[in-house]
Amino acid sequence: MLHPWRDFGDFLKGIFPFKVQKISINAGFTCPNRDGSKGVGGCTYCNNQTFSPQYAANEKSVSQQLEEGIAFFSYKYPQMKYIAYFQAYTNTYDATEKLLAKYYEALNHPDVVGLIIGTRPDCVPDELLDALEKISKTHFLLIEYGVESTDNQTLEYINRGHTYEDAVDAIRRTVARGIYCGVHLILGLPDEDREKILSHADKIAQLPITTVKLHQLQLIRGTKMAEQYLEHPDRFHRYEVDEYIDLCLDFIRRLPKSFVIERFVSQSPKELLLIPGWGLKNYEFTARVQKRLEKKI
Ligand code: SF4
Repeated sequence: MLHPWRDFGDFLKGIFPFKVQKISINAGFTCPNRDGSKGVGGCTYCNNQTFSPQYAANEKSVSQQLEEGIAFFSYKYPQMKYIAYFQAYTNTYDATEKLLAKYYEALNHPDVVGLIIGTRPDCVPDELLDALEKISKTHFLLIEYGVESTDNQTLEYINRGHTYEDAVDAIRRTVARGIYCGVHLILGLPDEDREKILSHADKIAQLPITTVKLHQLQLIRGTKMAEQYLEHPDRFHRYEVDEYIDLCLDFIRRLPKSFVIERFVSQSPKELLLIPGWGLKNYEFTARVQKRLEKKI
């Protein structure tokens, strides 16, 4: 499929001469925006139900998760290599030596060629970045920051516990060490109209990042934000799919062509989701974006 943007597959193809697959890892880390270290209560959209100590404690080891993930893919693609994606919660929130032990556990697997580490921008001390810089000299390494919005009023309202300036600082310190850096943004947060959302694109366009992940706002039952929505629906814009696609396209048109656009949507389990109920998987959504570009819908 031809995209007017650079996708993650193209990006990896430019780096590796073989097929590479991400394997999601839950390394049992927690979140400083819940335990009082950075904040309490967590982000207002965060799904409380999956945030239990048992969830982390019951997790399998990093090696076991990798083995299981690799077994699934290697049957069909024996030559494939893998990137361990530390995805769940805040994957830089622990003592540096404990973090490094988990990262190296993944890298010690003979078929793992790199890491992607998802985290908050206020959780990357220089000492850790220095250690990660060493990893980036020998392996693929991408750090993904949850930026979510570039508007500090929004960040405060959603109780993110950090500012946009914190995000810019983390990105600059990361990229200064030669580490690939990605950002995650949520489109459609409360009180953010189309113009405000597109201003995020103008701001992140100025940053030295490599990848961008966009997600539609999803309201999960039982969250603080779902409650706010029921009390003040006027603060939220309910996007229809095509309207959201147009927003995404206008968003990426404002970004440098060199940015890798990794995704436009995410899918929470249907039974937890209050809105929107689009029911589209990531690849189905991307196909619809493509059709829209070709003006077929
Ligand atoms: S969304 Fe992430 S940073 Fe926010 S409370 Fe949930 S786990 Fe923590």
